Amino acid sequence: MNEFSLIKHYFKSILHHRDDVVIGIGDDAACLRVQTGHELLVSCDTLLAEVHFLSSWDAYDIAYRAVMVNVSDIAAMGATPCWVMLALTLPAINEPWLQRFSQGLRDALQRFNIALIGGDTTRGPLSLTLTIHGMAPEGQVLQRCGAQPGHRIYVSGELGGAALAVTFLARQDIDVNHQKILKKKLLHPQPRVDLVPTLRAFASAAIDISDGLSADLQHICESSQVGACLYPDSIPLHPLVKKYQGVNALDFALSGGDDYELCFTVPADKESQLLASFAKVGVRCFPIGVIEERPGLRLKKVNGDCLELVPRGYSHF
Ligand code: ADP
Ligand code: MG
Repeated sequence: MNEFSLIKHYFKSILHHRDDVVIGIGDDAACLRVQTGHELLVSCDTLLAEVHFLSSWDAYDIAYRAVMVNVSDIAAMGATPCWVMLALTLPAINEPWLQRFSQGLRDALQRFNIALIGGDTTRGPLSLTLTIHGMAPEGQVLQRCGAQPGHRIYVSGELGGAALAVTFLARQDIDVNHQKILKKKLLHPQPRVDLVPTLRAFASAAIDISDGLSADLQHICESSQVGACLYPDSIPLHPLVKKYQGVNALDFALSGGDDYELCFTVPADKESQLLASFAKVGVRCFPIGVIEERPGLRLKKVNGDCLELVPRGYSHF
C-alpha cells in the first residue's frame, strides 16, 4: 500500500454527500460553496502523540475525539460545522490502526453531517491536524468579547469528569463502571452543537471549556474587558468528581479541562427567552455567576464571603 492507495482506501471512502461540496477529495484542492447570507468560520487544532493523546489509545478514539474537539470550537462561535480537512502524519502504514482510525473519523463526522473534503498524508512521528469549517448566518457569530456587567454567566453541563478521567487513566483500583463512564467523558466528548440556535439568538459571549472553567471564563473577561463573580455552590460538578475528589471537587471543575461544555453569558433581559428556548428542546443549563465591571475572577459563597480566584487551566499530561 502506498500513500495514494492509503488515501483512497481509508479516507476517500468516507464518502459523505453534501450539496455544498463541489469538489471533495481527489483533486489539487477542494471546492466548496458557502450558503448565501452566511459567513464561513475556520479553526484548526494539531494533536501530537504523547502530548495531546497517547499512541496506546484505540485509533478509533483518537480520531473521534479529534473531530469532537474541533466541532466544539465551531459550536462556541455559534456556528454549524460542515467540512473538515485532515493532515495526518504516520510513522508507518499500519492497516489495522488505519481501519480503526478511519472508522472513528467516519462515525464522528456522520454525527454532525460533516464532510471530509481533503487533507495531506505524510510520514513522521504520529500527529494529526484537523481544519474545520462552519457556517453561521451573517452578523450572528458569537465572540468572546460581548460580555457586559450585569450579564449572567451559564455553563451547559457538569464539569470535572474529563479531568478526573486523565488522573485515573493509569489506575487499576477504580470501579470498572466508573472507569468506563470517565473514559467516555474524555475520549468521546459531546460538543454542544445543540445549543447553537439558542445561543445565537440570545447569548452575548461564549467559549468552550477546553482548559478549565476559570481559565476559559478569564478569556471571555479579558476579551470583554470585564470581570466575573461566580457562585461556587451553583457550579455543576460531575457526580464522580464529587465522589472521588470530595473537598477538591470544585477545584477540579474550575481548573480541569477537556469537558467541552460551553460557558456563555446572557443579558439579564434575554435570560427568560434563552431559558424558554432551551426548555423547548429539553436542554438544561446552569446559572453560575454574573459579569462585573471590576476585572478578575471572584468566588462568592452563600454566606456572602468573597474570594479572589486565580484562573488556572489543567495541563493535560
Ligand atoms: P497533492 O500531491 O496535490 O498535494 P495529495 O496526493 O497530497 O495531493 O492528495 C490527493 C488528494 O487526497 C487531495 O484531494 C487531498 O486533499 C486528499 N488527501 C490527502 N491526504 C488526505 C487525508 N489524510 N485525508 C483526506 N484527504 C486526503
Ligand atoms: Mg497537487
